[in-house]
Amino acid sequence: MTCTCTISQAIAITSATVAHIEPSTQNQIIIQGIVSDSRKIVAGQLFVALVGENFDGHGFVAAAIAKGAVAAIVSQAWAAQFINLGLPILIVENTLTAYQDLARWWRSQFDRPVVAITGSVGKTTTKEIIASMLSCYVQPEHRVHKSQANHNNDIGVAQTLLALDPAHNDFAVVEMGMRGLGEIARLARTALPTVSVITNVGTAHIGRLSSREAIAIAKCELLAETPLEGTAILNAGNPLLQETAQNVWQGKTITYGLGIGDINGTLIDNQLHVQSQGQQYVWQMPLPGEHNALNFLAGLAVLKALNLDWQVTTQGIGKLDLPFGRAQIYDLPKDVVILDETYNASPEGMLAALHQLAKMPAQRHWAVLGTMKELGEMSSQLHYQIGETISKLGIEAAVVLADGEADAILQGANGSLKYAIACQSHQEITDTLLNQIRGGDRILFKASRSVGMDQVVQDFRQNW
Ligand code: ATP
Ligand code: MG
Repeated sequence: MTCTCTISQAIAITSATVAHIEPSTQNQIIIQGIVSDSRKIVAGQLFVALVGENFDGHGFVAAAIAKGAVAAIVSQAWAAQFINLGLPILIVENTLTAYQDLARWWRSQFDRPVVAITGSVGKTTTKEIIASMLSCYVQPEHRVHKSQANHNNDIGVAQTLLALDPAHNDFAVVEMGMRGLGEIARLARTALPTVSVITNVGTAHIGRLSSREAIAIAKCELLAETPLEGTAILNAGNPLLQETAQNVWQGKTITYGLGIGDINGTLIDNQLHVQSQGQQYVWQMPLPGEHNALNFLAGLAVLKALNLDWQVTTQGIGKLDLPFGRAQIYDLPKDVVILDETYNASPEGMLAALHQLAKMPAQRHWAVLGTMKELGEMSSQLHYQIGETISKLGIEAAVVLADGEADAILQGANGSLKYAIACQSHQEITDTLLNQIRGGDRILFKASRSVGMDQVVQDFRQNW
């Protein structure tokens, strides 16, 4: 079941004015689902004409009606075109706001915990870990509801909430991303979270917000919008996050970390140890690396906030449903191992992945890297620092896709590398690796999504 309401409820929730409807029949028409993609609409649903960067839903109202939509929400600017279609047309100032208002209303019909997750990095991974953990506690025939893939913006969050099934969902886990101030506040007002997680505050997308302080304020909008009886879950190892959170949040807080925090973990050989109330708990980590242990600890904090017994998860959590290019390991023939991190890259993610590479026992460690985008004026400094870290970690080889920004990585490594190779194309990287790699090598691939480093991973694997 997805969002169900009568047309008159939809009118009240969105403060719409209405064309083409007899007031006496308003109550009788039941909407069975609210959809913004006309290709997915089925008979009985309400179509909302959203306006995106690359599309305008107003162009698809007729298609939605042809497929059986019972009503449509359109903006005032377009209303004149639709009033003669003979169908209830709800006219609003802003269709996205109406969509979010409906999502918020539907969410308020769900009286179970809603966990919201934001942060500079680790949102999707943490969301999947939390959903898998919570799946250990659902009633038979019930499920954990969660954001699909990376659907973390205005449309994605509303869509996630509108797909809630109050009869069969015991928990909802919602990822929230942002590109500027005010966005997380808007998402949180739609989702009304009961447990709010902030994974960290870093420099991802700093080009848009100019400073780490501004990023911290933007992330903490989640707390400002969390009802006071809710719980904040915060990464204890991030002082700027702690400080900023204190300015906006007076409710219950649980912090987590490795060697720090209320939930204080120790990672030994991919096993996480945590002591709590005189009892020692041990988990086998489903994903490698300290950063993923932190994501797991965030999940444990959520269980704590919801008074769920950790013991249940020590035998394993549900299957993790991570999309491609995040902590993915490929064992290739001739003892070569790839760490595929090509989904995306930010400075924090890059550092985490480099630490993970350095810890892998190997003859030689190769970091195959491309640009981290959206870093604005700090871009060359942050790329340079990646090079410094490569040098400090004793990584022997770096290959970069040189596009003017990633070149600073090799400069930062400052002659410490055995192999420092700048390539001009994906093909050149693949050819270089096919020539240079030998048994015992471990290779990390990482860059921002738009660099397309996943293509190199694919070509290398095919030709190795
Ligand atoms: P997006 O902004 O694209 O939605 P996200 O915040 O959802 O990203 P993930 O997709 O979970 O982040 O992870 C992206 C990358 O960030 C991972 O591949 C990994 O390199 C790194 N990463 C994940 N968790 C952490 C963490 N807690 N600290 C630092 N880096 C992390
Ligand atoms: Mg994500």
